[in-house]
Amino acid sequence: MIMTCIKNPFSSLLGLSAAVLSQAVVGQSPAQIPNVIIILTDDIGYGDIGCYGAELVKTPNIDRLAAEGIRFTNAYAPASTCTPTRYSLLTGKYAWRTSLGVMNGDAPMSIKPGALTMPALFKQAGYKTGCVGKWHLGLGEGRTNYNRLIEPGLKGVGFEYSFIIPATNDRVPCVFLENDMVVGLDPNDPIELCYEKKVGNRPTGQDNPELLKLAYLNGHDHTIINGISRIGYMSGGTDALWVDETISDTLTAKAVEFIRKNAQDPFFLYFTPVNIHEPRTPGSRFVGSSSAGVYGDFIQELDWSVGELLKVLEETGLNNNTWIIFTSDNGPEVAEGYRDGALENLNGHDPKAGLRGGKYTLFEAGTKMPFISWWPQEIKPGVSNAPFGFIDLFASFSNFLKNDLKYSGTYDSRDALEVLQGKKNQTAHNEVLIQDNAGNIAIRLGKWKYIPAVSNFGQDQDYLFNLKKDVYETENLIERNVKMGEKLKGRIHAITAPWKY
Ligand code: CA
Repeated sequence: MIMTCIKNPFSSLLGLSAAVLSQAVVGQSPAQIPNVIIILTDDIGYGDIGCYGAELVKTPNIDRLAAEGIRFTNAYAPASTCTPTRYSLLTGKYAWRTSLGVMNGDAPMSIKPGALTMPALFKQAGYKTGCVGKWHLGLGEGRTNYNRLIEPGLKGVGFEYSFIIPATNDRVPCVFLENDMVVGLDPNDPIELCYEKKVGNRPTGQDNPELLKLAYLNGHDHTIINGISRIGYMSGGTDALWVDETISDTLTAKAVEFIRKNAQDPFFLYFTPVNIHEPRTPGSRFVGSSSAGVYGDFIQELDWSVGELLKVLEETGLNNNTWIIFTSDNGPEVAEGYRDGALENLNGHDPKAGLRGGKYTLFEAGTKMPFISWWPQEIKPGVSNAPFGFIDLFASFSNFLKNDLKYSGTYDSRDALEVLQGKKNQTAHNEVLIQDNAGNIAIRLGKWKYIPAVSNFGQDQDYLFNLKKDVYETENLIERNVKMGEKLKGRIHAITAPWKY
């Protein structure tokens, strides 16, 4: 990886060991050390936010971040589904090296305990670290046992504080965990999960559709909880069950509490709202608030949530010296799990902003994300067109923290700090790799994008696009520019060949 020396609040600390740096950072006043918040939303598309062109959905708080920070127009999630993107973001490694796909709620922890993760980087630099929101990277060993302290949990991978939903809001278990323990669990009513066969006596969507408040699609027909049938079966844990319509309120309150509690220390907060993943269940005050139906209402609830974070930063005097990254884990899919009327009531709102593909695909709508980098004290407002893969956040923050830990040999993340701060408009490598849930890999190199032929989603041929001229991927140039196609294909092979985790 390429390390560059730039001016930042740690510049006087260059050359110190991690331990000394840690002490030095702790010793600084909060005004000198930026807090870092990564807001990773769920299934928000490139066209879902006002500053990216949405008109029927109002997102004033996120738009404010864009107006005062850098709005990226070519930023990519590492994958077009949740789990692999989140894995790559936190570990700096491509998830396809592990064959990781979307995980169920009883899957084991996907990150090796003690590994140098994003939160561990911050922790070693003296930050308080917290995760609030959707996790979806597995918990514990073997099949997760939710009836005791879960190990390895988030503590084991670098988060000193955590308040999470374990998998997704459409999967069991439908409970919150705080510091790796289920919140409000009655020990006499233990949780049992199974994804293969029914457990317990709760009705299922398949057997009792009359009990549902949302009709299901595509296998979301197992245990009914709060009138919604989920993926997977769950018994027990009645006192601990979440109420979908207040998940956003709960997570936002926990994030705000974390910020307040750590206002005197530098902190790293990984905030991962469930909005706008299905089931879309905005709180009552947001129902009907947008002009794009329940889909838009759920986005507006997300914007409120971002606004609450901005409010507490102002109240605590941290608003100028907090660095926020706002983005999404993968592209949109409007009607995947439930018939919630989203598709019928978009009223012309286009989550994909006209881009090709969507969630699960290697086309642009699958991984090109809204991405904003905001830090009023250091980052000048602007727009960046640099191709940027946010797997590179790991090495960029590592550079920023000036840690002297040697990790480049087995990490895929590469430094892009100056692009992230708007000081350069191209990364040194100018390259982005993306994957789908099956582990197929596409590449963007500068303006060129190559997608291999894969059987799913009708991608039955190789594609080559010139994204500078053709952002909508309408003209396949693979026959006309064989040399470039071969070059990019070779690049994928070169990156994937050397080693596996
Ligand atoms: Ca997602």
